Amino acid sequence: MSIDGLPSLSDVIRTHELAAKKSLGQNFLLDLNLTSKIARNAGSLEDHVVIEVGPGPGGLTRGLLLNGARKVVAVERDERCLPALEELGAHYPGKLEIISGDALKTDFSKLVPPGEKVRIAANLPYNIGTELLVRWLSVEPWPPYYASMTLMFQKEVAQRIVAQPGDNHYGRLAVLANWRTVPKIVMELPPEAFTPPPKVTSAVVHLVPREKPLACDAATLSRVTEAAFGQRRKMLRQSLKSLGGEALLDRAGIDPRRRAETLSVEEFVDLARLLKVH
Ligand code: SAM
Repeated sequence: MSIDGLPSLSDVIRTHELAAKKSLGQNFLLDLNLTSKIARNAGSLEDHVVIEVGPGPGGLTRGLLLNGARKVVAVERDERCLPALEELGAHYPGKLEIISGDALKTDFSKLVPPGEKVRIAANLPYNIGTELLVRWLSVEPWPPYYASMTLMFQKEVAQRIVAQPGDNHYGRLAVLANWRTVPKIVMELPPEAFTPPPKVTSAVVHLVPREKPLACDAATLSRVTEAAFGQRRKMLRQSLKSLGGEALLDRAGIDPRRRAETLSVEEFVDLARLLKVH
């Protein structure tokens, strides 16, 4: 028996024959103390509905419910996990809604009725984690329908999300994440924390949306960062040639000999604004 009065996660996996599938990015967390800690990093839960992607056998879901989540709405693609999740739902009546489906085909903004306070929390499948994050960071209108995101990534991806100008990991993802949110690494987890263990260390990133990010068109910002970091070793006058090169950089007051990795988010936003106007 576990701290929530339910069978241990290893028993759940054994009973429901949930051998991990690599193709679905399944690296399960079996320690409820650990998943409770991740849940606490998400912030206050009592007054929030938590959207979770990939509950699997329910490790993080149980952590969220144990820590008082008002409700969890969880989207899982692997139908083998549904009976285990239904048992969990029976233990927490009215508090767990399970959606059987593909997160990449889900409109998360429609999962929770307007007016509800929402948080997103997930131990993401590594193969779609970045794609989902970029989608959540690109939603319109802004501020978004969620109050925070607390997400597990491979540590290297987490570093690319929180990176600042001059860091090796600074790139398109950092510009987008730092433009719209304040992202922070709040936990690191060694491979042994998971079953089966992945090859690399993982990290949890907590992202809080900025109320008023600098005004700018997300698609244009994406065009600028794609061009700039597409040739990150080149000077900007070269990498941004197709977008106006030296003339554009002059108008923004940016030295055309600089490289993408030295530009602040504000400078990228300036470039995107100038491009949009002309
Ligand atoms: N939350 C569980 C935990 O922490 O132990 C499992 C996390 S595991 C890293 C990723 C989960 O995402 C798996 O349960 C997997 O089946 C699910 N998954 C993979 N691809 C998915 C998709 N496209 N949509 C929804 N769930 C998906």
